[in-house]
Amino acid sequence: MSLGWSRRAPVDSLVGTEAAIEFTIPLAELPRVSHELSAADGEARGKVRFSRQLGQAVAELDVSAAPEVVCQRCMQPMRWPITVKSRIALVSDYNAADRVPEGLEVFLVEADSISVRDLVDEEILLALPHVARHAEGSECAGSKMQLPGQEAEAEEAADSQVQKPFAQLGELLKRK
Ligand SMILES: [Zn+2]
Repeated sequence: MSLGWSRRAPVDSLVGTEAAIEFTIPLAELPRVSHELSAADGEARGKVRFSRQLGQAVAELDVSAAPEVVCQRCMQPMRWPITVKSRIALVSDYNAADRVPEGLEVFLVEADSISVRDLVDEEILLALPHVARHAEGSECAGSKMQLPGQEAEAEEAADSQVQKPFAQLGELLKRK
């Protein structure tokens, strides 16, 4: 069965035919993900396989992408590699969601049909960082070349306050 990633198809037929779909989706085509990114270049690649497991419609999804996000420390763009491997229960209402076995994620299907795009959009959205930052120990974390941002200034002010008691102690010791 060949099916484009953008086309919505009935869950019943995807599951019934055990459709397996490989995809390469430009991140710009993922409606919610693209909204979160500083630059929507790049692609999400992977595959999805539909089946019925224990009476439950399931999508097994593998997807990887490296979207560009903005580091909240240095405000520079950075790549955020994402690899998602998940088993997703496709449910049509919240009551059904309560009965989903543990270990499965839940995706609420609208009007009994779904596209690969919908699934990938949701999974990558969930994998995006809340607050993106370069790793500790990176150039950005140790850099003194920061723009005069308020946050950096506030941090330095906090540092000097922390050091003050010790400085005063030093003065006291000298006076003895
Ligand atoms: Zn940074």
